Amino acid sequence: MCIFCQIAKKKIPAEIVYEDEKVLAFKDIHPIAPVHVLVITKEHVESVNELVDEQLAGRLILVGKRVAQDLAISEKGYKLLFRVGADGGQEVSHIHLHVLGGAKLYEEIRAE
Ligand code: 5GP
Ligand code: ZN
Repeated sequence: MCIFCQIAKKKIPAEIVYEDEKVLAFKDIHPIAPVHVLVITKEHVESVNELVDEQLAGRLILVGKRVAQDLAISEKGYKLLFRVGADGGQEVSHIHLHVLGGAKLYEEIRAE
């Protein structure tokens, strides 16, 4: 089972900030911004390339918006980011939307 499936099934812990029957949002373990949350599908979907469910796609984005509101970064602005596959820099093969904010994020950066 992949690492994010294990988080979705509560087999390994994460700092959860939002949950419903379809998606889960939790803090990134290596944040690259003051606020760095990942929104995942509970069902294993590898990446945007494999995403076909329009409702689920919409839910990921709207939960990203909700997390930004709940964590008080929505007014100043934030970044929603999907990395897709090798050239996109995706390291975990379970779809996740990065919610990044709390500072100006002009350039995409990554923690080493
Ligand atoms: P990617 O590079 O695939 O877009 O992003 C994967 C993200 O998952 C990285 O920002 C990384 O820090 C985060 N991550 C990887 N493993 C874990 C984990 O076990 N727990 C949490 N909370 N985040 C993780
Ligand atoms: Zn998975």
